[in-house]
Amino acid sequence: MLSFNPDNVSLPIGHYINGKHRQGQGNGLGVKRPSDGRVAGELREADAALVDEAVTAAEYARNASGWSQCSPRERGAVLRRWADLIARDGEQLARLEALGSTRPIAEVINHELPFTAEAIRFYAECADKYSGDLLPTHDASLAMLVPEPYGVIGAITPWNFPLSMASWKCGPALAAGNAVVLKPSELTPFSTVRLAELAVEAGLPAGVLNIVQGSGAVTGSALVAHPLVRKVSFTGSTQTGAQIMSQAAFHGMKPVTLELGGKSPQLVFDDAGDIEVVAQRILRGFTANGGQACVAGTRLIVQRGIADALVSRLITLCQGFQPGVTWDEHSRYAPMIDQRQADKVQQMIRQAQQQGAEVLVGGERFAHTGDGYFWQPTLLSAVNQDNPAILQEIFGPVLTVQYFTDEAEGLMLAAHPTYGLCAGVHTQSLARAMRAMRAIAAGTVWINRYGRSGDFIIPTGGFHGSGIGKDLGRQAFDACRRYKSVLIDF
Ligand code: NAD
Repeated sequence: MLSFNPDNVSLPIGHYINGKHRQGQGNGLGVKRPSDGRVAGELREADAALVDEAVTAAEYARNASGWSQCSPRERGAVLRRWADLIARDGEQLARLEALGSTRPIAEVINHELPFTAEAIRFYAECADKYSGDLLPTHDASLAMLVPEPYGVIGAITPWNFPLSMASWKCGPALAAGNAVVLKPSELTPFSTVRLAELAVEAGLPAGVLNIVQGSGAVTGSALVAHPLVRKVSFTGSTQTGAQIMSQAAFHGMKPVTLELGGKSPQLVFDDAGDIEVVAQRILRGFTANGGQACVAGTRLIVQRGIADALVSRLITLCQGFQPGVTWDEHSRYAPMIDQRQADKVQQMIRQAQQQGAEVLVGGERFAHTGDGYFWQPTLLSAVNQDNPAILQEIFGPVLTVQYFTDEAEGLMLAAHPTYGLCAGVHTQSLARAMRAMRAIAAGTVWINRYGRSGDFIIPTGGFHGSGIGKDLGRQAFDACRRYKSVLIDF
């Protein structure tokens, strides 16, 4: 029985610094439950002074505890224990996540929690598997490339997958010997605190992982600007990413990893195969987490031969969606995170319509869901390349539909002026799939599937306005180390 009563869950409200819970002194921020709009709790955000305390504690702890200097294998052991504790306390963590975010409890238990624990295990394995290098030089000298941790990494995460986003940031950073100060989204502050407590229980020295809560404008900016933060790893919108990049340049020329927004195409050719299979794939691609996923495949570009059959099947499938609160084990469909996001989805649909778009299905909030922010899966057709629904990330369950005749036209429509996060290509022709893969400028191309596998070795990250650098994979671990060139004459 996974369903639970959200009023009976005790919430860790506040910050976690040096292994202790702290209350902030800053502005009060009300945190609402997306499923019913009720206030779950109020937190006092971390101001610059509290951020300073967290970063200073992190810098002190990583040296005093030996975390940065110990054998990488020891770090790996701590991370493995952490992953085991996440599994042990899965139900409690899942409740915190489901109550305060858009993630239905069954989805958290079946996907998000195992995914979070496995990401940490993956980086535990990286800790002592990847070394530096010996470089070819004259016989009378020896050149080495010696990896080192940066020091304190400032991590900033969005609200759409709070637990797994935290694991993608903390796993590689800690495995590489850094300390971390993590600021989760102010909309989803609860589960990450429990995650950090479990890390300390697993043997992570207190202070090596700290959580500060608050808005981007106050807490996030103070973290980016702090002189002891040597690198910033951010996931969020492209607009915020741009601000963070300029702030990081201004406050100490810090390297940044930026995982940003997307507007990913789903290119479906006439020979894509079974219509039902393809329709289900496209559907999941834009409705998972209510469309609030950076990788959402929100632009269907379909060849005319199968367009009618595919689109009419998608319309029928969209009509079958049922909203339900995230603490009910039968719920599968996520609400919008808050009123502002629901308003944004509505506004974008109206703007698209004003510029000629036609609503094929959906286009409205679900009726009878009280103060929950549930939006109907929506298909928009008659959109040209400069329609706002094509140009901008909506971050809701909205799929635009465009038609093409030949491959060149399909690829032309798939290109995007701003984003390059992911793409789906659906065809039985290997040659066509490979041509499309080469032609599309995106950090990830999925062929005859849409979505990640459990293979953490595959990195994720965008081209163009979708970001810089990679999360996941060995690349994320490498990005948490800097390399020192050493030349010895003998
Ligand atoms: P957001 O950019 O509004 O906020 C993300 C985080 O940044 C939050 O913690 C926020 O408080 C903080 N922040 C905001 N302004 C800041 C500032 N000036 N300085 C420092 N921190 C600041 O994004 P969001 O609405 O929380 O999340 C949705 C966005 O995230 C979408 O654009 C989505 O595509 C993107 N996203 C990308 C990926 C990826 O891997 N590429 C994954 C998930 C989400």
